[in-house]
Amino acid sequence: PMASSEMEAAISATPSDSPTIFDKIINKEIPSNVVYEDDKVLAFRDIAPQAPVHIVLIPKVKDGLTGLSKAEERHCEILGYLLYTAKIVAKQEGLEDGFRIVINDGPNGCQSVYHLHIHILGGRQMNWPPG
Ligand code: 5GP
Repeated sequence: PMASSEMEAAISATPSDSPTIFDKIINKEIPSNVVYEDDKVLAFRDIAPQAPVHIVLIPKVKDGLTGLSKAEERHCEILGYLLYTAKIVAKQEGLEDGFRIVINDGPNGCQSVYHLHIHILGGRQMNWPPG
């Protein structure tokens, strides 16, 4: 099958620690539809939703976490907090019947933005295996 444009973007994205579009979203330099925010994390609606509910959840401070593959022991607290917050957001979005959490990593994982993020997908029956 033809590669989707999202897949092409991911394959051509260069893994680096440079600022990303998510820094601009954190700093409110570009608008986003924020659904949850506290001092450590920000959750906003994905601009290209793959499900009725599709939220991107990110740490406000990247601290070298371009992706999960760059995690160090110092990141354990924020990593745990992100998962906990994912549950809070899923509940807030009314995903009582279940949801999907996704972390894309690197070109094979279809990662296109190099600032660690958790996708929260729901509002429909998800498929398995994933594509
Ligand atoms: P990745 O492919 O890296 O796992 O996920 C990046 C996600 O960020 C994609 O689902 C993409 O649609 C979303 N995204 C990229 N740029 C923007 C943006 O400017 N605003 C919002 N709301 N989402 C974005």
